[in-house]
Amino acid sequence: MITCPWCGTNYIAFQPNCGNCGGALPLPPEMAAPEAPSRIAAPPPPPREMPRHHAWRLLATDGSAVAGGILLLLGAIFAVLGLALTIAVVTAFVGIPFGVLGAVFLLVGGVLVWTRYQAAAQVVDILRTGDAALGVVTHATESYHIQVNGRFPWTIGYRFEAQGRAYEGQVTTLTRPEVDRQPGKPVYVLYRRDNPAQNTIYPNPYGYYGG
Ligand SMILES: [Zn+2]
Repeated sequence: MITCPWCGTNYIAFQPNCGNCGGALPLPPEMAAPEAPSRIAAPPPPPREMPRHHAWRLLATDGSAVAGGILLLLGAIFAVLGLALTIAVVTAFVGIPFGVLGAVFLLVGGVLVWTRYQAAAQVVDILRTGDAALGVVTHATESYHIQVNGRFPWTIGYRFEAQGRAYEGQVTTLTRPEVDRQPGKPVYVLYRRDNPAQNTIYPNPYGYYGG
């Protein structure tokens, strides 16, 4: 059985792309490289089809992006309210500070969402075009000092070799890592050929690359 790494749909027989989300399916064991461990899903060669709007799905699990989105929403409300109060002239003394506060929220929220979107788009690009290497999980830890959407994020660290050099990376995820993502387990890493320090693990429904 082949499970879609992006949306979890199961398939009996191999097909290149998921009929549900459009993402590329992992290679079945008989199509993967002979040295590949048969228990883990092997990434197909690049370029890989990605599910639509994958960058936005990544953003929905990113604490900074969610905070930026809330600021944008508050900023829009404040700006509209401030503008209405200012137009009414008599209430301009509260309208102007309201409007200014709204503009600041819109600016900060916009910058936050934009920068996190750029990071997410880069992850999607690595997933789509990156070279694959077989690495090993070094740690999987839950961090209790931040909460995203009521859940504590997990950090999965790993190391791998690319172009004769050793690299390390980490991703954060809101879902508890499965047993195959525990320390010592093999894991596929996708990295940029021109800069392997930019990397992430495969499959990767909610991960972010880190240095
Ligand atoms: Zn799918």
